[in-house]
Amino acid sequence: MPSFDGKTAIVTGATRGIGRAIAEALLKRGARVIGIYHRNHDEAEKFLQSVKRDSAQPNLEMIACDVADYDAVKQLYIDIEKRFDTIDILINNAGIRQDAIVALMDRDQWQQVIDVNLTGTFNLCKFAVPLMLKQKYGRIVTITSPAAYLGFQGQANYSASKAGQIGFTRTLAKEVARKKITANCVSPGFIQTELIEDLSAEQMSAYKKMVPMRRFGNVEEVVEAVLFLASAKASYITGATLEVNGGL
Ligand code: NDP
Repeated sequence: MPSFDGKTAIVTGATRGIGRAIAEALLKRGARVIGIYHRNHDEAEKFLQSVKRDSAQPNLEMIACDVADYDAVKQLYIDIEKRFDTIDILINNAGIRQDAIVALMDRDQWQQVIDVNLTGTFNLCKFAVPLMLKQKYGRIVTITSPAAYLGFQGQANYSASKAGQIGFTRTLAKEVARKKITANCVSPGFIQTELIEDLSAEQMSAYKKMVPMRRFGNVEEVVEAVLFLASAKASYITGATLEVNGGL
């Protein structure tokens, strides 16, 4: 198991689901974690309290910041640089869905999903890269989705945002490769979290039939892939997308 002793990591979407599991795993393996969330202050507080209960040295901070808000993200990094000087790891995990078929999708549904999932990834990377360049080291892992290329009905906004993250990551990887900064994606299949809680029983069963392993994954199965790409050991992997999807 990789150790993250002495490393500072930003994890977006850290109150729940995959992001929280990634944050917990990084903490357990020695990292200092700055968890970003949107509005769910109660969950953020619960997470903080649980870490304080379980650890002699709670190295977690939870900060509310809308990843889609360029100015808020810029200010976030100004504060982080003042306090920690640099960061080693960025996990772009925050994501939302707002499903509707294209003909019925309103502009806000389109724009909000693109803003959070894709522009949020740009915002976080834009300000992380200069900090990583200072020390010529960095690991960026972005959580995309098979929706990027499978194209599930009603998810044109989500699919476009997730495909965009892959293209963005491949480009960024080339830009920073010589500076020992890697940028990769992890693409989880259906993972049992609040993000997919609203699916009907019919949809769930249809999606399960699509998965060769005939089951949804759990967050721990995603975490291991993310931690590997976020570790120093993944030094010759960049621009890649690692699929964790039961064979989808
Ligand atoms: P959840 O819905 O469980 O959690 C979403 C997280 O993102 C929350 O912490 C939420 O914060 C945060 N968030 C949402 N909007 C913003 C914003 N504007 N600014 C900052 N934080 C925000 O999602 P999952 O854990 O299921 O998904 C995590 C990632 O994995 C997403 O990118 C998703 O697209 C991807 N993914 C998920 C799959 C699945 O089946 N679950 C499959 C494939 C990919 P708050 O609590 O404050 O609202």
